[in-house]
Amino acid sequence: MQPQWVVMLGGPGSGKGTQAEYLKKENDFYVISVGDLLRAGKDEIVEGEGRAIGEIIGEGSLLPDSVITELVRTEINTINTAEKSVIFDGFPRTIGQATALTQLAKEFTKAVGKVLHFVVDEKVLFKRILGRFKCVNCGRLYNDFFCKTKVAGVCDICGCTSFEKREDDNEKALKRRLDESHAKTEVLVDYYSQYGILKTIDATGSVESIRAAVLNSLNLRNEEVA
Ligand SMILES: [Zn+2]
Repeated sequence: MQPQWVVMLGGPGSGKGTQAEYLKKENDFYVISVGDLLRAGKDEIVEGEGRAIGEIIGEGSLLPDSVITELVRTEINTINTAEKSVIFDGFPRTIGQATALTQLAKEFTKAVGKVLHFVVDEKVLFKRILGRFKCVNCGRLYNDFFCKTKVAGVCDICGCTSFEKREDDNEKALKRRLDESHAKTEVLVDYYSQYGILKTIDATGSVESIRAAVLNSLNLRNEEVA
């Protein structure tokens, strides 16, 4: 099978990061995560801005599409694209980046073959994100709705009785975060649907069922399950 270039679209809690990890480990994909590239390149000075990447993001400002695209291009240059399939996670985020990716693909005599859009029922998403809590001692993750402690208030692993929730996981902030991400994603969904390469992944179920849907849409088989 020819190496494929695959874009993953989906908001917070959609589980696309987990699926990208699986494709990397089990199916030998190379994952380009723009979040990781930005963290790694936070000290790089942006041309024409005179400020570092980390500084610009830290102020809540957006980086120009050209800067993001160059980071991605540099990363692609490290890959043997004749042999490796590539996942793009967190890129493109805008139409400008999407057209830049099409252009990049041409430079490498490739094409974006599939765009996986991870869709989660919003009620489930709220429970997934707002319900999560963590043992302060051993770090074990739990969820009020899907994965409680066996004995209420006591960690299954270490017996600790103190837990913490992430501060930004409150309902109002989450609603705003989801609405923003949804609006941005929809623009890209419209863009890619005109090329007939868009696949909707039902990301509401278990990690395993989502994995099966991903493999299916990429025409891959899960060797372990088979
Ligand atoms: Zn614990």
